[in-house]
Amino acid sequence: MAVMSRHACTDPKHHVHDSAGFVAAVEVACQQRGLRLTPIRARVLGLIADGGKPLKAYDLLDQMREGEGAGAVAPPTVYRALDFLLANGFIHKLESVNAFVACHHPSTAQHSVPFLICDRCHSAVELEDEKVVAALDERARALGFVPQAQTLEVHGLCARCNG
Ligand SMILES: [Zn+2]
Ligand SMILES: [Zn+2]
Repeated sequence: MAVMSRHACTDPKHHVHDSAGFVAAVEVACQQRGLRLTPIRARVLGLIADGGKPLKAYDLLDQMREGEGAGAVAPPTVYRALDFLLANGFIHKLESVNAFVACHHPSTAQHSVPFLICDRCHSAVELEDEKVVAALDERARALGFVPQAQTLEVHGLCARCNG
């Protein structure tokens, strides 16, 4: 399945035109790792993948209230589902815009990646360059600092908006 392969990707939409396929890939990853993708987790994941753009928690809650299978979904339930998806690397949280995006490679465990965020169309692309992450980690350790999380978000205009 294309969504599971590792590759450099510059198209923000590439991993989201098939959110059902993406959820299926995560389902497989969960089975392999002994995790359980409950219906609510799958639903949250599907909505985030469907968005194609970073999705804020309150937009997510709104969407959970609408659509089929909707009904009273308590916010804490949604937040717990988000925590699960984040902790296992199926989605990323963009701190600077306080929103969530689906991860390009759900078969990989939790990982840090720099993000390129377009301020005009609000697309967010993972900058798949391990050297950037490794260089930051190395420099921090050289200073005696033990890094536990990296949040690197670069704002600007994407190729499409800039062109
Ligand atoms: Zn990722
Ligand atoms: Zn853009």
